[in-house]
Amino acid sequence: MVGIVVVSHSRPLATAAVALACEMAGERAPRVVVAAGLDESTLGTDAAAVADAIEEAAAGGDGVLVLVDLGSAVLSAEMALEFVDPLVVQRVMITPAPLVEGLVAAVVTAAIGGDLVRVEAEARAGLVPKQTHLVGFGGAGASGEGPESEVVAGVEPASAGVAARARLRAPAPHGLHARPAAALVGALGGFVARVTLTDPASGRRADARSLGQLLALGATGGAELDLDVVGPDAPAALAAVVALADTGFGEATAGAPGLPQGVESGEAGAESGAVESGAVEPSERDIAVGPVVRGEEDVAGVGSAYVQGGVGAERDRSAAAVTRVGEHLAGLAEGHPALAAQVALLGDPDLTTSVAADLAAGASAPDAWTGRLDAVAARIGALPDPYLRERAQDVRGIRRLLLSAFAGRPLETTAEGPPGILVVPELDAATASSLDPTRVLGVVTTAGGGTGHGVLVARARGIPVVTGHAEAAGLDIGTLVALDGARNALIVRPGAGELADLQRRQRDRDESRAALVESATGTAYTRSGVRIAVEVNVSAMEDGDRARDLGADGIGVVRSELLFATATEAPTAAEQARVYRELATTVPGPITIRTWDAGGDKPLPFLPTPRESNPFLGVRGIRLTRLVPEVFAEQVRAICLTAREAPVRMLVPMVTDPAEVAWAAGILAEVRVSVDGCPTVPLGIMVEVPATALRIADFADLIDFVSIGTNDLAQYTLAADRGNAAVAGLARQDHPAVLGLIAHVCASLPGVPVAVCGALAADPALTGALVTMGVRELSVPPTAVPAVKAAVRTIA
Ligand code: PEP
Ligand code: MG
Repeated sequence: MVGIVVVSHSRPLATAAVALACEMAGERAPRVVVAAGLDESTLGTDAAAVADAIEEAAAGGDGVLVLVDLGSAVLSAEMALEFVDPLVVQRVMITPAPLVEGLVAAVVTAAIGGDLVRVEAEARAGLVPKQTHLVGFGGAGASGEGPESEVVAGVEPASAGVAARARLRAPAPHGLHARPAAALVGALGGFVARVTLTDPASGRRADARSLGQLLALGATGGAELDLDVVGPDAPAALAAVVALADTGFGEATAGAPGLPQGVESGEAGAESGAVESGAVEPSERDIAVGPVVRGEEDVAGVGSAYVQGGVGAERDRSAAAVTRVGEHLAGLAEGHPALAAQVALLGDPDLTTSVAADLAAGASAPDAWTGRLDAVAARIGALPDPYLRERAQDVRGIRRLLLSAFAGRPLETTAEGPPGILVVPELDAATASSLDPTRVLGVVTTAGGGTGHGVLVARARGIPVVTGHAEAAGLDIGTLVALDGARNALIVRPGAGELADLQRRQRDRDESRAALVESATGTAYTRSGVRIAVEVNVSAMEDGDRARDLGADGIGVVRSELLFATATEAPTAAEQARVYRELATTVPGPITIRTWDAGGDKPLPFLPTPRESNPFLGVRGIRLTRLVPEVFAEQVRAICLTAREAPVRMLVPMVTDPAEVAWAAGILAEVRVSVDGCPTVPLGIMVEVPATALRIADFADLIDFVSIGTNDLAQYTLAADRGNAAVAGLARQDHPAVLGLIAHVCASLPGVPVAVCGALAADPALTGALVTMGVRELSVPPTAVPAVKAAVRTIA
């Protein structure tokens, strides 16, 4: 007979539920074992006790069904499986069934000899009778009837055991990372319903009120997620979540329309001066020199001075520390949205329940918090997606703050001591926000990557950061170091010459920047009179405005897929044209609209791609849009509508074969004649694939211009993933092989304008080389326009 385990926070609750269920089954009731509470009266769950209960219930030989109540009960049950004999585990199922109704149904079914699968199915269906009854009497059931259901667009009828269900997509481009996850937790604040998100691809499940669990889902941008809601206010809770998901979980608010905040898109890192290993967008102050100071080992623990008190005292200390850190974060949170995630983490019910259980079991407050937060950070740190993985820094940041609070230390990092260069393993958002720029002259991370929130926050505050310098871990406090954020370079014990050189560079950069910005307006000619157009890459609407202020001559690439990154339905031609027209008003020159470059690391919710083991080599750009000609034609229509009012060019990404261009040209010709008054629209291709560069002459008759995307051209030429810091040293865009391909393209296309729009174009040190090869347009991030124009003017 199937055995049953009941995991609950409350022993009286579990015992009473078992009594109720067994009464229904009478004498034939199966073995039901309770693993509930930490003792008769203390609330909590214990994975070891659950493991013992499973072993005991398995004695019947037909498997074990585990029913759980909420929050950490689910985690304890899952963790328990790691302690149980693997042979037994093969026949254990943890069910999301409601505890009381599910238990009754399971006990009754097991009693009549049902097998494990049947017992579980019956348990999950335990709510159906109640739902049917309440709907029948006009209650807010799950049938999709009634006023609430009108709000709940896309809700499927209830399936067994759940009140309502919907399918959502994780926001693009970075998935359910800290900020959208915090928005989800916040949206559920007023509801009592139990809300669960499941990733059908991985089978991972998360309580939607638990930031830690949501992050541990590892849902990447565009991933489908199943939302299950159970409870009296389930329809309204579900409507709230669906509404939030419709806005891209709030990710669209930072950049319009539908664009994640530009600085956090990860794109900036790939874009700006990223010719050197790991380089990311420099802050205005990008050079710093000073002695090493440290913050992290001071707060690695609370130290031997901490004297553990009784259970009540530790509980009070825990509450006091949480309040202090909460107030500290609330003060900082005005500064940066990334901090909202850390605030949410501090109030995560899953965490607080687990910590409370640990405290009740006699743990000290620092140990309870450290253990639980380390477990969350470890789960997030093990995720396959590197961007999501870096969010573990935020969890460790909370740990650091709490430990400081327990030790009675200030929460600000290095508030005391001489000004210097802070060396830390990694940089979380709270730490970055609390750094005092007059004391922390720069930051070196020994392990963290360049796209973490903390790095972005620090740079936005004008503090130079270099990342991933493991060698800094062993430096003594006081060691003189210099860092150059623009090159991600760390110089240990710089000599007098190097120091003078760096200091001169910083002074020069500071002085010349103002002059550059002033002189940027106006066309850039080489000294021999060749005009070079310096344009911008637009990834967010505000890039247009910045472009105007910084003197750009036009828009070299509109990354349309980023502008509409959170649209769940393909935008109509009119909707797109409104956006493109607005952009066109920001710059004097032409606007080059790139057709959807979805796929790779840029999911577009309305253009789903198949799950691919190698997305960068898969169905991306034109390869994808060829599969959906009507979506492509609608974008081409938008381009033609814009072309009636502004000088517009159309650019096709990820081209490998002339047949792809012929196809796109055919659609452009067709659509153009159907748009009254549309002038000729020049057609160009991105050169990103080495084969396209090598065989560019095959395309000459089909195109009016080319734009060389060195971000992708370098990764494909050097077989080095552009987003992988471990191979960033290989993916150099100034590699002779890449430069050779650019030279070949220029030489093979006499009379056809050649642009470069990858990060290489933004490096003033290479402007001369590119112009000499024959490049006549450089498309760069807005902030790079002044320096690149100035570089053009120095060319003979
Ligand atoms: C490139 O590949 O260089 C480019 C500009 O395109 P994206 O970075 O958008 O892939
Ligand atoms: Mg590209």
